[in-house]
Formats: sequence, C-alpha cells, structure tokens
Amino acid sequence: MTLKPWPTILFSMKPFHLYLILCLTVPATNALVQDLSIKDEIVRIANHPKTVNWLKKVRREIHEYPELAFEEFRTSALIRRELDEMGIEYRWPVAETGVIAKVGTGLSPFVALRADMDALPIQEMVEWEHKSKTDGKMHACGHDAHVSMLLGAARILKNLQDSLRGTVVLIFQPAEERGGGAARMIQGGVLENVEAIFSIHTAYLYPTGTVASRPGEFLAGCGVFKAQINGRGSDAAIPQRSFDPILAASASIISLQNLISREADPLDSQVISVSKFHSGSTYDVIPDSATIGGTFRAFRKKSFSILKRRIGEVIEGQAAVHRCSSKLDFFEEECALIPPTINDERIYNHAHKVSVEIVGEKNIHLAPAVMGSEDFAFYLDQVPGTLLLIGVRNETVGSVHPQHSPYFTVDEDVLPIGAAIHANFAYSYLINHT
Ligand SMILES: [Zn+2]
Ligand SMILES: [Zn+2]
Repeated sequence: MTLKPWPTILFSMKPFHLYLILCLTVPATNALVQDLSIKDEIVRIANHPKTVNWLKKVRREIHEYPELAFEEFRTSALIRRELDEMGIEYRWPVAETGVIAKVGTGLSPFVALRADMDALPIQEMVEWEHKSKTDGKMHACGHDAHVSMLLGAARILKNLQDSLRGTVVLIFQPAEERGGGAARMIQGGVLENVEAIFSIHTAYLYPTGTVASRPGEFLAGCGVFKAQINGRGSDAAIPQRSFDPILAASASIISLQNLISREADPLDSQVISVSKFHSGSTYDVIPDSATIGGTFRAFRKKSFSILKRRIGEVIEGQAAVHRCSSKLDFFEEECALIPPTINDERIYNHAHKVSVEIVGEKNIHLAPAVMGSEDFAFYLDQVPGTLLLIGVRNETVGSVHPQHSPYFTVDEDVLPIGAAIHANFAYSYLINHT
C-alpha cells in the first residue's frame, strides 16, 4: 500500500504515542490534534492496524454473503450493526435495503458520500478463504470494498466529529448493477439539503495506491431497448403471402447502425449495439414475429435523448416499409435510462486536491472517458459531484481481472486509502464551504 508516510514528527514526540493508542476511541478535539493537519490525522486513523483489520473483516463478511439488487438485507444489517457500534444515527429502510447515516452538526452545509451494496449473478471462481458462500452470486464489481471504505470513512469522521463544520451524509444504496437503486434513494429524500456528492469505484486497470478521474463527461448514458416486430407468417416457399418480420428486423438493425455512422457527430461518441435477435423455429416457415434488442450509449444528454427517439423512429419506419408493425420497450418503468456521468469541474478539482493529499500527485491519473455507465449519474443529475476510480491492481495478490469477471478480486490494501479519501473529501469540503 502506498499511503503517504506519516510525518516523522508523529514518531519523535512522546505525547503523540499516547494519542496513537487512543485514537480509535477518543474524539479528535484536544490541543495535540490541532497541531496536526487534518489530512495527517485522517491517514493515521485509516492506517491504524485496528482500522485496517476491521476494514478487511467487514469487506470479507460482505463478500461471503453477496446479495443481488434490492435483496441486500444481510449487507444492510451489517452496515447498521457497524453504525450502531460507532454511535452513528441512520435512517432505514430507504429503497428496500438502503441506509442513510449522518455524522456532524446536523446543520448545513451537507455533503454526501455514496457506496453501492449489490452483487452480481456470477459464480465466483476465485479460490480463497472468504469465497462467496452463495452459489451463483458474487461481489464481482467491488461493491463489498465500497461499503467497507465508506464505513471506514464513517469511523474516521466520527473520530473527528467535534471539528466537523457541517454534516456528512453517508449513502449506502442498493441495486447499482440494475441501475434502479440511486433513483429510488433520491425518491427517498437522500439528497435533501445536499450541496455536493462524491463516490468511489474500484478499478482493476490502475495499481493500488493510485486514483483516476476526469472533469466533465466521464461515463456514458445507458439505455436498453427491445422491439417486437409483428408481421404475417407463411410457408417459406411462398414468401409473397408473408409480411416477413425477419426481413423487417434485419433492415432495422442495418438502419440503426446508420444512426451512428451518418447522423451522429463523429466527435460525439455514441454506440448502438443490437445484441439480441430471436425469431422462427424451423427452416421452412416464415414466422409471425421477430424480437430484437440491445443497448445504446452517449456522453451528451442531448445526443442520448436524440438517439433514443431515433431508435424508435427507425424501427417503426422499417417495420412499416416491410408491412409489419412494431412494439418498442425502453424498460423505463422497471429501470429508468441511466444518464451520462458528468463530473462537476469544481467538485472534481476538490476531489483531485484531497486525493493528492492522500496518495500524492504522481499517483493521480487523468482517466479517459469510457462507454460504461454508473447509476451514480442519477445523483450527479441533481447535485454537483464527482466519481473517482481507485486502483486495486496488484499482480502479487491476483487482482488483475476486470470487473464482472468470475476471477475478479480486489487488493484489500485499497480499503484504508479509499476510506481516507472519502473522509478527507467530506471533511475539507465542509471546512471550505462554511
Ligand atoms: Zn458492476
Ligand atoms: Zn460497480
């Protein structure tokens, strides 16, 4: 792990030794602490062996019992158990399993930190002591580490409570993978009075001890669609009697690609991928209907909504050309379209500054924009904020596999780093905005 070293003064002055021993139970209000910079204090608490062991224990417990979207009951109970232990108040349930905790004065300004709790329907292939105990479910996206890091931040901030200049809202949300959790948490009032929001996601491409992000457009908006094209079946040897839905669906797929190659600005990246095509069941019958489906992505909100409208128009038009009808579904009732993740420049700069204090300037990367998506974007649609990627790559512990791989694992050395960045972000935001 490459947290910046504690200042040597810590080790050369006797009274600090005593403070080190008491740090996890004594609020940071005495005169000694005021001589320390807050950053050093945050790193010291995060890096304390007691904290590190606890962070690992929490992450491993969550890892052993992964739960899917809106079923995170055990994970939620674990979070509440730890918050109770720390004496931190919370509201629950929000969005079925979500928890909203608060640390600080209870007064403005309010700044929010967010972690997601859900796992994936994947069979874990990593053989280790704390492997998933639930067949077919796995924390393959690092959300177990996200919860642990946010609980770590809660612990640090609770230690610094008496010097907090406002309120930190800790958001533990369900169902990121399905994309509905953030929106439901917002409906539950989680952003009430919140001025700024911050979240961390683990990233296997970056080594442990480094972080990456970018201002502005970072991750794409994401939508899915399904179109049922209804025609008229017939004997395949007498095609003139049919309204061929397979031909209509095929023409739709070709025309959808033209939206990207002929209508979209080449400098405004967009994607349409048709990844499903189901029709027919035999060789000599033209079926009555065909179903296609896929995903579409864009970085700019306007491009995203134009793309959605044009997908509908193209499929409807191509179906009509081939004497068929179409029924389109964007699944907005089950799960709203995920907007693009756009990092607010001012909050990005704040996150950059506090990250430099924890990992050092040379360990900060400017991340490229990518076509993936994150439901953290729902919060960013309402309040300024930023998403930060935190490196977990470490060849020696095998954390080199991508998110959603059955071999995915995190380097647990990331836990105190993430906890420290979370806490530093919130603490210094409140200091700068009172
Ligand atoms: Zn994921
Ligand atoms: Zn994730």
